[in-house]
Amino acid sequence: MTQADAPGARPVTLPRHLTVRDLSEALGVTPVDIIKELMKRGVMAAINQTVDYDVAAAVAKDLGFEAEPEARAGGVGERMEHGDEAEQLKPRPPVVTVMGHVDHGKTSLLDAIRQTNVVASEAGAITQHIGAYQVEVPNPDDPKQPKKVTFIDTPGHEAFTAMRARGATVTDLVVLVVAADDGIMPQTREAIDHAKAAGVPMIVAINKIDLPAADPTRVKTQLTESNVVIEEYGGETPAIEVSAKTKKGLDNLLEHILLVAEISDLKANPDRPAEGTVIESEKDPSRGPMATVIIQKGTLRISDIVVAGEAWGKVKAMFDDKGHRIKVAGPSMPVVIMGLEMVPRAGDVLGVADDERTARDMADERRREQVEATQSRAVTLEAVSGDIAAGRVKDLHLILKADVQGSVEAIRSSVERLSGTEVRVNVIHTGAGNTNESDVMLAAASKAIIVGFNVKTEPGARKQADIEGVDIRNYQIIYELIEDVEKAVKGLMEPVIAEVVDGHAEVRAIFKVRGGKAAGCMLQDGVVRRNSLARVLRGGETIHESRVSSLKRFTEDVREVTAGLECGIGVEKFDAWQEGDIIEAFHTEQRG
Ligand code: GDP
Repeated sequence: MTQADAPGARPVTLPRHLTVRDLSEALGVTPVDIIKELMKRGVMAAINQTVDYDVAAAVAKDLGFEAEPEARAGGVGERMEHGDEAEQLKPRPPVVTVMGHVDHGKTSLLDAIRQTNVVASEAGAITQHIGAYQVEVPNPDDPKQPKKVTFIDTPGHEAFTAMRARGATVTDLVVLVVAADDGIMPQTREAIDHAKAAGVPMIVAINKIDLPAADPTRVKTQLTESNVVIEEYGGETPAIEVSAKTKKGLDNLLEHILLVAEISDLKANPDRPAEGTVIESEKDPSRGPMATVIIQKGTLRISDIVVAGEAWGKVKAMFDDKGHRIKVAGPSMPVVIMGLEMVPRAGDVLGVADDERTARDMADERRREQVEATQSRAVTLEAVSGDIAAGRVKDLHLILKADVQGSVEAIRSSVERLSGTEVRVNVIHTGAGNTNESDVMLAAASKAIIVGFNVKTEPGARKQADIEGVDIRNYQIIYELIEDVEKAVKGLMEPVIAEVVDGHAEVRAIFKVRGGKAAGCMLQDGVVRRNSLARVLRGGETIHESRVSSLKRFTEDVREVTAGLECGIGVEKFDAWQEGDIIEAFHTEQRG
């Protein structure tokens, strides 16, 4: 009988991750004894090294304790939700993203606005590129209080959608740039779809009106055809004619941005610990990881301890969009922070932690959760079909890609016809050409499935799809594509059963037991449970597959055995054991 099974095992509460020293203090056992116990399990850890809860709990058990996990410290966001009372909320500047087709003038427009609207004394100081900047717009109501607008200066739709895919919503408003001489182009449509999917209001900037070939009326008609009805035609979307080159119309554009912001009633409480979103990051050779963050709530201060995705650190220095050192940053302000231990990703949410240890633990935990998150985030056609069958979802979101526009239209109308009263087929984006990263990010952000006809998936998109858990299905036969979507809509698609390996045990001795033979094993990794599915591997080949029929520690039946422990394992309908065989324990899981 092990000590843990003895009556009166002492209860102890342990955090999710703790150092060897923490564990020794919690149990009142010398660190050396803890290290020895860990070594028995094949875990080599120094006194200040962090170990997982599972390992710590197993060690505690062997030392006569009954461990229980500490109630989980909330994520940064959860902890921060100490409700902001209405009176604490103060108006904040809008955060704007500029989108549109390549060469329609996104960069020129951002530059033109920046040049014309910096405070006079700052002119010439704008050399820094930090991925976002703030401008001041004169306020006729109160000339001493100019209004501010924050622009995200990372043109490209990927950044916008990457953030949304991670659950970050940093943009309050999208400015859609359309060149007046070129009209609506594929990336314009893509931008419209991205903005609509995000539910963000839009203002159209019809750019390059200085050109003789400019035809703003044609652009307006095309917008209507793309389901963007502008105010002039009775819709809700303002369309402003501008020229980034002559700067004509820029004031009008800014006024409309402020107007839309006012209607959106953008507010935040500045008097609380900061929360924000990383929009850009890099590793500076001399200053280490640098992250540009847009503060969304609260105020960030020097020396705050922050967590951003899997990164954490103490804010050593902060810089504004002009490269000036600052000490505090409030809502909607873009700020570069120095002091993180590693480079976070665009879209990572930043929060303030109480102390370094909490920050480190939270970052560690996020790292672990990342893998699981990808699995649970995966949206496959089979999984959606299962959800439809169970009545959990009523929409099937699709992105359609095909070799030519004609096929796109044909497939679109065929799949949309599959919508019924119960389930709606919602094509959120279409395009002719291979599936690219932008398609994948939109799918991830909108929980959509990508169906391709006669197209390929670009290598970058494939990699991204794996990371984000996006299902890309390519077909060569239209009929098969439609049939699959129809099956999904009817909830008839068979779920994919995936196998998850739990652990491996090496056979070191063979025993005779009643009715056959059992294997004396050493658990190499993971865990083996009673009744677990199991296969016997010899020289890498599977020679038998069934399930674990008995599991013993010494002579006791046990429910599970973890890495580093010896045990006796019996496998159903098998006793042709040889030393050196490997028992692989696994279970199956329905994906999605
Ligand atoms: P982006 O790819 O959307 O960022 O487009 P850019 O800002 O790089 O602009 C593409 C080209 O259009 C550049 O050669 C610009 O000089 C030009 N351009 C941008 N805005 C205007 C404009 O208002 N008028 C004219 N005539 N040219 C412009």
